[in-house]
Amino acid sequence: MASKVRVRFAPSPTGPLHIGGVRTALYNYLFARKHGGDCILRIEDTDSQRFVPGAEEYIIEAFRWCGIVFSEGPHVGGPHAPYRQSERKGIYRQYAEQLVREGKAYYAFDRPEELEQMRKELEQAKAPNTSYCAAVRKKMKNSLTLPSAEVKQRIEAGEPYVIRILIPENEEITVSDGIRKTISVNTSTLDDKVLWKSSDGLPTYHLANVVDDHLMEITHVIRGEEWLPSLPLHVLLYRYLGWEDSMPFFAHLPLILKPDGKGKLSKRDGDKFGFPVYPLEWKDPATGETAMGYREAGYLPEAFLNMLALLGWNPGGERELFPLDELAELFSIEHVGKSGARFDPEKAKWFNHQYLIRKSNEELARMLMSLLEQKGISYTGGMDYLIRVCELMKERINFIKDIAEQGLYFFRAPETYDAQAIAKRWSPDTPSFLNEICGLLNSLPAFNSPAIHEALHRYAEERKIQAGLIMVPLRIALTGSATGPDLGELMALLGKEEVVKRIRRATEQIKS
Ligand code: GLU
Repeated sequence: MASKVRVRFAPSPTGPLHIGGVRTALYNYLFARKHGGDCILRIEDTDSQRFVPGAEEYIIEAFRWCGIVFSEGPHVGGPHAPYRQSERKGIYRQYAEQLVREGKAYYAFDRPEELEQMRKELEQAKAPNTSYCAAVRKKMKNSLTLPSAEVKQRIEAGEPYVIRILIPENEEITVSDGIRKTISVNTSTLDDKVLWKSSDGLPTYHLANVVDDHLMEITHVIRGEEWLPSLPLHVLLYRYLGWEDSMPFFAHLPLILKPDGKGKLSKRDGDKFGFPVYPLEWKDPATGETAMGYREAGYLPEAFLNMLALLGWNPGGERELFPLDELAELFSIEHVGKSGARFDPEKAKWFNHQYLIRKSNEELARMLMSLLEQKGISYTGGMDYLIRVCELMKERINFIKDIAEQGLYFFRAPETYDAQAIAKRWSPDTPSFLNEICGLLNSLPAFNSPAIHEALHRYAEERKIQAGLIMVPLRIALTGSATGPDLGELMALLGKEEVVKRIRRATEQIKS
């Protein structure tokens, strides 16, 4: 029987998680759910120079917010703990040493300046491969060129060294990828990558990644396309370590592209065009700079995940709205596209709108209530009032915060009036019409939307004026602008007293 599906998301805590990373994690999570498997979070923090404080906490909080749940990880534990590579330090060296013993890796003592010199010489000679490759290793200071007694003596004397993989010469390595299918690479294009460093006793990404995927019994590696060039090296490592039979299935996901389709979506695009590229707001501990987050921008986690899922995957057909449970049922690697997926900030808002309108007015009102509290906006009428505001506004908004921004008039009288609308629709007769309407409204026995509409239309007919000549000024008086939800509903919601008060105030303040 096939082994249980086990996938992992393995971020390096070098900063906030880009939405491309969240999408990778999401595909892993969906794949695990679809196959009844495990989804593991592993923190790849062996590069201490790139470590950023707070990044791991950020990553975990981002997943908690959006609802991607890991079965194992540093925050939940699990049978393969620890899940932080820095805490697994003692594990990796034996594998690097094993490779040296078997002639598949070697010690190298070259100092940084010697490596630099080598690179310069190769560049001057226009060598096809300027890295530490087969042609180069023969001229460098390593256990392949030095007598073994000297190697031993250097190590014993505490001289810093690295362990490099010995890449075979001119061999064709064929790797298969679930998205790219088969890829063939000649080993002459590869270099003898460092696997382990004595300076900090830590492995590099390549060794730690392969060893951990093996030890953690990972069956499928689903990761970003930027790791595709490393795949031949990883396949070689599996082969060298004798693990080729249990090598995971690989799938490299296409990039998320800028809105214009030209190149990878970057943090700068977000800053430039005003949309978030990170799940949560991130404050850079070094510069103090803050970058926007989807959570803070008001996105619902379900909408965020649905939007991300469709950036590169599609089950076929026209449908675009898939709640998480359905995504987990439908997801498959076969339907992940080969080419990059263009990010569309307007589409992201559309997804949020779609999820908002499907929520109950009560739920929206609860969100609105906490937002108003945060913003210090007071209101009367309690929860019932907010429920009715949401009912009236939900079709018109992309975010709950739109109500607090565009619909502030639900909570307080407008302080300013749209000058353009006034220029267009406020005539010298308007104040007297509006004053008469106040009298009319005051005499209405029931102050509800049908009764208000009926009264306003009757008034327009009697006065033989176009309904618009009173409707638009009324709206301006109540909200400050010429657009908004149904006027009768709005007036009924504000209540007779408030409506009359706002109309009187507007007629005093607005000069046509
Ligand atoms: N630590 C790597 C990263 O930051 C993981 C790549 C992989 O999934 O193998 O993306």
